[in-house]
Amino acid sequence: MRIDIVVPCYNEEAVLPDSARRLIDLLSSMTAAGQVAGGSRILFVDDGSCDDTWRLIRTLAAADPRVAGIRLSRNMGHQVALLAGLLESRADAAISIDADLQDNIGAMPTMVEHCRAGCDIVYGVRAKRDGDTVFKRLTAGLFYRAMNRIGVALVPHHGDFRLLSRRALDCLAEYRETNLFLRGLVTQLGFRTATVDYERSARRAGESKYPLRRMLALALDGVTSFSAAPLRATTAVGALAVLASVFMTAWVLWIRFGTDSAVPGWASTVIPMYFLGGMQLLCIGVVGEYLARVYLEVKHRPRYFIDERIGQGQGG
Ligand code: UDP
Ligand code: MG
Repeated sequence: MRIDIVVPCYNEEAVLPDSARRLIDLLSSMTAAGQVAGGSRILFVDDGSCDDTWRLIRTLAAADPRVAGIRLSRNMGHQVALLAGLLESRADAAISIDADLQDNIGAMPTMVEHCRAGCDIVYGVRAKRDGDTVFKRLTAGLFYRAMNRIGVALVPHHGDFRLLSRRALDCLAEYRETNLFLRGLVTQLGFRTATVDYERSARRAGESKYPLRRMLALALDGVTSFSAAPLRATTAVGALAVLASVFMTAWVLWIRFGTDSAVPGWASTVIPMYFLGGMQLLCIGVVGEYLARVYLEVKHRPRYFIDERIGQGQGG
């Protein structure tokens, strides 16, 4: 079985040499053990880095036939870079992993074993993530719980470290959406799956390419591409507001005609005005989020362009 290890890299010059060496060592030992066939590669995807990343990948590829690389025409974001690498692969299976190797590469042989036993998707699951910041662990935990609540099937604590068989890769290629949330798509594929637990360690060098802004954007894509729950919640909130205003009206009428303490008050006017105004803006905002995505999807724009390819396999 021939495999490709797909590694998206964005400004990873600090960590790349070390990661490449460890991946090459792993590939050697797996080949020696007869687990994977010769011709298995490490495929680096340079996501439009502005540092030395691409030059490093070229050097690595020149020195070792097992290293290949593609360079996207500009920075497209982690999910798109990952997809580009996966679709480029022509191997029998592809394993995706982040360039900082925070996910334990020691889990790869087990993934390959599961694949040989007939699984099409093998999820790497972070049994422990002591290497991540408290903030990241907290927000990630909340995110998986919230997604679960609104009915989006996700494998908890699974990031983008996974093995996909040839068949799964071909199916993934049929999804044409622009707003990518791969871990949601993959769980929709079906087929036989397995999970492999591992401990997530800290980033070895360089800094995280996922600042809060990007984490929020990814989470938003995750929610809006797989669930209409926020739209429904909006309707519910609107309905509640209407109900509340009916009671409010009754109350105001009673004060006016039932008692003689009718204050020439502005409260009953001003409060609902602010409340409903805020509500409306909020609801329009939620609808807008979906509309924006519909807009992007209907354009069917190409998701990425490959600027350059290096390494033996020229892909498809
Ligand atoms: N990455 C990418 N394009 C981007 C941002 C990130 O290809 O625009 C890659 C990055 O090089 C790394 C992976 O995505 O291989 C995950 O990033 P990082 O390790 O910084 O995220 P974290 O582990 O902090 O969530
Ligand atoms: Mg990382």
